[in-house]
Amino acid sequence: MTAPARDALAREALVALDDAHLWHPFTPHQVYRDEEPLMVVAGEGHYLIDADGRRYLDGVASLWCNLFGHRRPEIDRAITDQLGRIAHSTLLGHANAPAVTLAARLAALAPAGLRRVFFSDNGSTAVEVALKMALQYWQQSGAPGRTTFLTLAQAYHGDTVGAVSLGGIELFHERYRPVLFPTVQAPSPYGYRAPAGYDAQSWGEACIVELERLVRAHADTLAAVVIEPGLQGAAGMIVQPEGFVRRVREVTREVGTLLVLDEVAVGFGRSGRMFASEREGVAPDLLCLAKGLTGGYLPMAATLATERIFEAFLGEPSIGRTFFHGHTYTGNQLAAAAAHATLDIFEREQIIERLPATIRNLAAALERLRPLAAVGDIRQYGLAAGIELVADRATRAPYPAADRRGMRVCRVARRHGVLVRPLGDVLVVMPPLTITPEEIEQLIGALAAGIEEVCT
Ligand code: PMP
Repeated sequence: MTAPARDALAREALVALDDAHLWHPFTPHQVYRDEEPLMVVAGEGHYLIDADGRRYLDGVASLWCNLFGHRRPEIDRAITDQLGRIAHSTLLGHANAPAVTLAARLAALAPAGLRRVFFSDNGSTAVEVALKMALQYWQQSGAPGRTTFLTLAQAYHGDTVGAVSLGGIELFHERYRPVLFPTVQAPSPYGYRAPAGYDAQSWGEACIVELERLVRAHADTLAAVVIEPGLQGAAGMIVQPEGFVRRVREVTREVGTLLVLDEVAVGFGRSGRMFASEREGVAPDLLCLAKGLTGGYLPMAATLATERIFEAFLGEPSIGRTFFHGHTYTGNQLAAAAAHATLDIFEREQIIERLPATIRNLAAALERLRPLAAVGDIRQYGLAAGIELVADRATRAPYPAADRRGMRVCRVARRHGVLVRPLGDVLVVMPPLTITPEEIEQLIGALAAGIEEVCT
């Protein structure tokens, strides 16, 4: 079937095929059909277009990865130009021009010292690669006892088993505990839900003090500390207090362990800077990137490492220092071409320079939600925000999970032409970086309508 013929299928025909064959990610199938899922057939700028021709503002940037809208002519062209040369060849033992030049570009953009770029396919694999590099690095650097990882409570680093081991979200991760490796877990600075006796500020400080204590206590066995810098996204948009990441960097330096920063969600402009590392004033030993790397077009990820780590992997092949990791599509040329076009847009359109105004517009629009009784907390980090719904603002009591208020609010927002997806009862706002002031108004207006309809 040709693409136009596929698009011409009636919505009903597509829905029937979906019902018969597709298993959706992170989707409770018992209720999937009742929630009238969108059948996307096209995209245009910041909008998605469904099988009935309706348009929806892409308020979560197609799961946090679409930076400049859909069908950006420059990215489309870069991919078709690359198609005229080659779509894919292996990076195992060989090289290709788009991947080599992209590695150099990423190394130049990244925080100081991150010179080596290892490509993979998605955020989870970027994290797996970092984990395995850290483990092997210590084995080859005279400290084979450094085998544990320190993470934050409610962490999310992806869905493969290594990344899930680092995770701390009960709903997503507990099932797999029997096969997960143990980690040392520090508390998460979730200020809005600080334990009794703390306010947001004192809890943030207590969390970093406890993290520092744990790092020192496990100094001899820690391979690395792995955190999402600035913002714990999937945990419910938990914003870390000012200086948190810097202090993690300081204590990891003090005990000589590695720092892995997972910028899968916050990299490429989301934080207001190119990388959150930069915003937080730190340079990690390993940096994980994915999502926005290709502008939201194609699956590609990168794990950046310092030269010190890379050099521990050198030596005669016979001594076995090689990093035996690599995926079929590692360094794929089409994805690399999309990434180059994405970085070109950052430069040409001065995207980073234009972000502060967009971030301010979002902050102003979010204020409009604050008077709504069900809005317990609004958390913004750069061009990302979480709006936490509560049953009782005074006691911060949550709604019963079975109410699925967050999901219901998002369904109403959809009627208003806005596509968003919640994390439980936290409404997530993660628009494309190029969202306009009018579109921000539309997005927040649709959420307000949803909250009013579902929560009053
Ligand atoms: N790390 C973080 C911080 C993420 O937010 C995500 C995805 N939301 C991942 C890793 C996993 O990325 P992927 O879904 O591409 O595997």
